[in-house]
Amino acid sequence: MKIIDAHVHTNFRHRGAAEFSKEKKIPFSWDDLQHQLDQHNVVGAVIITTDHDDPTPGEAALLTSQRKQDARLFPVCSIHPDNTSRADVHKVEQLLQTGKLFGIKIFPGYHPVYPSDKRYHAFYELAGKYEVPVIVHTGDTFGSHHLVKYAHPLDVDEIAVKFPQTTFILAHLGNPWVRDAAELVYKNENVYADLSAFCLSHPGRHDLQRIVHDITFALNYSGRPDKFLFGTDWPLVGIGSYIDVIKKAIPRKHHQQVFFENANRVFKMGL
Ligand SMILES: [Zn+2]
Repeated sequence: MKIIDAHVHTNFRHRGAAEFSKEKKIPFSWDDLQHQLDQHNVVGAVIITTDHDDPTPGEAALLTSQRKQDARLFPVCSIHPDNTSRADVHKVEQLLQTGKLFGIKIFPGYHPVYPSDKRYHAFYELAGKYEVPVIVHTGDTFGSHHLVKYAHPLDVDEIAVKFPQTTFILAHLGNPWVRDAAELVYKNENVYADLSAFCLSHPGRHDLQRIVHDITFALNYSGRPDKFLFGTDWPLVGIGSYIDVIKKAIPRKHHQQVFFENANRVFKMGL
């Protein structure tokens, strides 16, 4: 089966990601990425800003240069809440106009700012205009000094309603607030979710039980297998072991949608 990984980090110089991957023995370099994609038949990967302190459009230069080297990679830049001037909006619009970006991301929780904050609104409008999704970090944060109240998925309801032309993807399905996230996917036609990083490094048996339970609930409650996207959050989790776990959580009849079609459609990858 061809797979699209809708959530991958590729800033190999980022100290936090590099240290974690070294400690957990998840090799993290350009060559390792190539090897992982080849080995697991990952034909497309959404590459996302690793350093959320990078100003708008976060890591756009790095990510777009990586796409030039490997057309399997689809860049998504991030928005920093302190860099939301008209000039910043213009920079992002230029990247969207020239087809260099396939989406944008915000980092509530890592930034102490709610998704509904007015500073982000112009970017939501841009995403609607250029028909690219907005990925919203939701749920637990990597590192205890961040503030997870900003990352609760429920706040996304407000922007989903206010910007009906814009597609929002709840990264991590709001984990552990999976019920709230499932409600947003059920209620709002324009809300999707990725299934990345329900655990860190390599999933153990207890992780497996919980992940299957939570994802089964969200799928059944929403009744929308067309709105869940496979993703890993590599290098925070191993790609191969995570594919195995999510395969167990998703009924086989929905594999093609969740592991390939949904991301291909939402990010307009043309694969
Ligand atoms: Zn991530």
